[in-house]
Amino acid sequence: MTTFARKIWALIIVFLVITIAFMYLLTDFLYEQLYVEDTEASMIEYGERLATKYKGGEVTDELIAEIEEHNSYGNFSVFAVRNPRELSACVPFAIDYETLIGPDERQQLLAGQAIIKIGYEERFERQIISVIFPFTDENRLEGILYLYYPLAKISELAKEEVLFLIACVVVFAVVIGYFVFKALRHIMRPLHELQQAVQQMSTGDYTARVSVTSKDEIGQLSNAFNDMAQAIQQEDEEKKTFLATVSHELRTPISYVKGYSESIQNGFIEGEQKEEAIRLIAREANRMERLTNELMQLVHVEAEQAVEMYPIVLAETLRDAIQIIHVKAKEKRIEILLEADEELIVEADEEKLKQILINLLENAIRYSDEKKTVRVEARAYEKMAVMKVIDKGIGIPKEDLPKITERFYRVNKARSRADGGSGLGLSIVDKLVKQHQGTLHIESEVGEGTVVTVQIPLMEE
Ligand code: ADP
Repeated sequence: MTTFARKIWALIIVFLVITIAFMYLLTDFLYEQLYVEDTEASMIEYGERLATKYKGGEVTDELIAEIEEHNSYGNFSVFAVRNPRELSACVPFAIDYETLIGPDERQQLLAGQAIIKIGYEERFERQIISVIFPFTDENRLEGILYLYYPLAKISELAKEEVLFLIACVVVFAVVIGYFVFKALRHIMRPLHELQQAVQQMSTGDYTARVSVTSKDEIGQLSNAFNDMAQAIQQEDEEKKTFLATVSHELRTPISYVKGYSESIQNGFIEGEQKEEAIRLIAREANRMERLTNELMQLVHVEAEQAVEMYPIVLAETLRDAIQIIHVKAKEKRIEILLEADEELIVEADEEKLKQILINLLENAIRYSDEKKTVRVEARAYEKMAVMKVIDKGIGIPKEDLPKITERFYRVNKARSRADGGSGLGLSIVDKLVKQHQGTLHIESEVGEGTVVTVQIPLMEE
């Protein structure tokens, strides 16, 4: 049995013990309240009736005899004595007259009141209840009427029922035990299943799922586990794909570098071809450098959830980004035009914001033919700064647009590769924009050009 099941059993047993203890106390209370009080009341009523036989004067032998006659048919033992000391001769147990009737009680008797006493008698092993009535005449205690009755033990009261009760308790315990056992097994099953699934996950098998059979807390826990397992499995698959893609991306430039360098070493390539081979080696080395740099950026962006934001003049950052990129633009004789509202202040991480713009400008240049123009705009719209990078390049087919921000996604692999693209640029932009609580939107027309719009919140005044 599991510890949890053991705890529930312990709880049930504690609950039963407390209930039994409570029942015991309740029975005791009822015994006291009902049986003892009832006996007391009957004795008083019986005694009062007998006491009326005394008509004053001396307590005569006839009166004593008449009263004692009732012993043969009454429920209670009864005696009448002239001197209370004589009682010890009548009752079958020890009576200490001094403690039986003290000075206060004597006064009570003289006032005509009855006295009730309950005491334990060892010889009978039970409690004796006794009621004493006075025979008074002109303020003189002429004698007493003494009634006593040994109270039955609580166990005697229920003597016949006890066996039946015990049998009932046993049957009850067995039936309840059976149902509790069944219920526990039912409750424990999903937990057991969860435990096995967690174990399966810990060995690296993320396909583990549990069945959800209820809507209670355990059902919710099972649901949460399934969601978690699903997320982990997806993450794991993405990681595997990512690693496979990275190795694939690196393998091509490495094989170029290896092949050409070995050919040069072995003297297979000479003259102009050798120059071309060295140019290709340099190009592939650059590609590898770029790819590793972008991978580093991606890892950095994904690992870092919080960005350090400062107020930044957007137009200045745009100018800095254009400055960094302008050599590449010049190589293709592409002109970059900037049209920015100088007043715009955004709360952003300057380096990351610059990275967004550089990546977008690199794409605009890479996918535009020579001598084209790239426009960069920045305006305020409601509470957002709206930046646009507009090119007159090759454009992106509509069906590719939704996937364009996925890692390693390239529309035209050959062209992108030839232009030095890795397929990581836009996925980095997408993540950086999200870190700035912004949005990224791409519109494009094949052969016409592309408009990439980034919106990030303006600094609140
Ligand atoms: P890459 O490093 O290959 O440019 P990106 O993630 O930046 O990777 O872009 C993904 C793909 O989207 C590119 O391979 C390219 O096909 C397409 N793309 C991105 N920007 C543009 C653009 N301005 N014009 C045309 N195609 C673009």
